[in-house]
Amino acid sequence: MASNKRKPLFAGNWKMNHVPREAAAVAGAVLAGIGDRDDVQAVLAPTFVSIPAVVEVLRGSPVSVAGQNCHWESSGAFTGEVTAEMLKAAGCSHVILGHSERRQFFGETDETVKWRFAAAHRAGLSPIVCVGETLAEREARRTLDVIERQLLFALSAANREQALRTVIAYEPVWAIGTGKVATPGQAQEAHAFLRKLLANRFDEAVAAQVRILYGGSVKPDNIAELMAQPDIDGALIGGASLKPESFLGIVQNGRRA
Ligand code: PEP
Repeated sequence: MASNKRKPLFAGNWKMNHVPREAAAVAGAVLAGIGDRDDVQAVLAPTFVSIPAVVEVLRGSPVSVAGQNCHWESSGAFTGEVTAEMLKAAGCSHVILGHSERRQFFGETDETVKWRFAAAHRAGLSPIVCVGETLAEREARRTLDVIERQLLFALSAANREQALRTVIAYEPVWAIGTGKVATPGQAQEAHAFLRKLLANRFDEAVAAQVRILYGGSVKPDNIAELMAQPDIDGALIGGASLKPESFLGIVQNGRRA
């Protein structure tokens, strides 16, 4: 399937790092490094309290801002939660959903990811839906079953237009924050499989347009071989997105040949 029509997307997941002042400084340096390049899309996901500072720095620029999660209701008695509408009003265009840290530490399930997915679209946000297997699941040769279940559940109520505005991130749990990156072959196998699922669930045109990012210990020195795979359209980057030099190194080395 031709990959060159999909604009590479590099998303930095800052997790629980960077107070507003630091977040604004990193965002400013990323913006300076990206300049007016329009051959890639960059998205930064600060912690909630740092979103306004980052939005302020990036206003009117090609670099977008994402939330790291959102609740499925649009208001109510849910202490500590943030709605998709609030993220949109604060200036976000994207929201990360179903990250494995949320599945592992905060009780996220396939069902809650599906609800959050609907909320994101209701608010006009593009969800970045994370799927990925644990080491035990890979060793039991269940990788494809797991990511199929996670993807199809998240998208089970989605229509075609919503699918087209969605980004998928394949993030093997064993590769996140561990320094162990999936081999390009392992990642490509999962990405091609996810794209086939999109073709079966929607149609070939949806499958050809939706970007599927790889996530898990991406660094400036391993992105090029990942991006050489036909179904890898960019990266969701944790640790290496915290410093502008390494995030920009990934964007630079991840350019399509
Ligand atoms: C992530 O948190 O989505 C991630 C891929 O982290 P890291 O790049 O640090 O492995």
